[in-house]
Amino acid sequence: MTGIDRSRVEALVKRERDRYHADHPGSRRVHEQAGHLFGRVPMTWMSKWVGGFPLAYATAHGNRVTDVDGHEYVDFALGDTGAMAGHSPRATVAAVQRRIGVDGGITTMLPTEDAEWVGAELTRRFGLPRWSFTLSATDANRWAVRLARLVTGKPKLLVFSYCYHGSVDETFVVIGPDGLPASRPGNVAPAVDPTTTTRVAEWNDLAAVERELAHGDVAAILAEPALTNIGIVLPEPGFLDGLRELATRYGTLLMIDETHTFSAGPGGMTARDGLRPDVFVIGKAIGGGIPSGAYGLTEEVADRVHRITAAGSADIVDVGGVGGTLAGNALSLAAMRATLGEVLTDGAFAHMISLAGAYTEDVRRVLDETGVPWSITQLGARAEYRFTRPAPRSGGESAAAADDLLDEYMHLFTLNRGILMTPFHNMALMCPDTSPADISYHTETFTQAVTDLLA
Ligand code: PMP
Repeated sequence: MTGIDRSRVEALVKRERDRYHADHPGSRRVHEQAGHLFGRVPMTWMSKWVGGFPLAYATAHGNRVTDVDGHEYVDFALGDTGAMAGHSPRATVAAVQRRIGVDGGITTMLPTEDAEWVGAELTRRFGLPRWSFTLSATDANRWAVRLARLVTGKPKLLVFSYCYHGSVDETFVVIGPDGLPASRPGNVAPAVDPTTTTRVAEWNDLAAVERELAHGDVAAILAEPALTNIGIVLPEPGFLDGLRELATRYGTLLMIDETHTFSAGPGGMTARDGLRPDVFVIGKAIGGGIPSGAYGLTEEVADRVHRITAAGSADIVDVGGVGGTLAGNALSLAAMRATLGEVLTDGAFAHMISLAGAYTEDVRRVLDETGVPWSITQLGARAEYRFTRPAPRSGGESAAAADDLLDEYMHLFTLNRGILMTPFHNMALMCPDTSPADISYHTETFTQAVTDLLA
């Protein structure tokens, strides 16, 4: 395999950073003037963009973003999935405008007719029969975890090392270098040691899952059906079936978070691969960019909650209400109805998955031809390359392959040539507006980036 000279990468990063600074005075100005913002950005994640300051954008339509300096980008980041339906999809915009304008009423703490339509559509796609809404996937996870603890009477969660489920405190646990559970490096103020709330296993390690469940104190296994937040790490054959079987055997709920893996198809991996979660979570893409999230329950879990609340042992309508004041508001639901009904359709997924296939094939061919020791993994409409080969089998292995310098180089190189890649990843996501020409342009740019690395 081809080795990559570190001093060459450093020189290239400098070249690309200089170009980024020279080309983006407007974005730089927005950042420098933002003295009232914590970290000079509206939200601290935005500092993750490479180059010293993030792009400030003026407009975004479909899969195109235009920054304040007038540069246009092909957007493969798509707001890290929040804009998987494309930016400002026409049907969603029309429904939102109708709701806030002609119809009126954004949030009332009253139901609208859209809610049942969306619930029925989520059931059609993902199978679970009972739904409740939130404003984010983080919140959907948080509320679903409360219900899992309520119905099982057990205190802990089981998660996978280097998982991400939003800012849910219990999930920031990894397997440390000594093989023992530990607070994830960088975890913000772990005033409560997360190993007291959470058990952790490596992805694809059923024996470890069973060992942890055998303690008898786990309310739910919380998992994406493929890790997508430490690169994409797919489940090996039998792993997800094994989780289902172990959860049932140990009286633990299987909670599947499809916020990112929704890219696998109109019904996510749950429909594609016949998964049978007890609790299901989704967010981000389903509102077409309007804050939205949802959790689904099986009939059995919903009944267990109702039995407990009917007996007066818990309250889900007063201070124990699950969802939040603005959850299930009319605007979110109008957006979800239009996005699911008219934008993220079966046809749109077929198009997006086919393009991600072409993207993956092209990147793989470049890696094979140049001998660069990286790997690429596709998950439906998204694909991600990782700086190691073969592709990692677990979160721990994938975390060990992180390379901040190479990351910065690839992100800056593509950004400087009009391509946005997801800042936390080398991930590309397709939306209904992505075209074959966009894939060819990425392939050309990626080839040049790799060629320059090896020159
Ligand atoms: N679950 C998964 C699998 C995610 O990837 C994320 C965000 N990347 C979340 C939940 C949280 O989503 P949000 O930040 O929109 O609440």
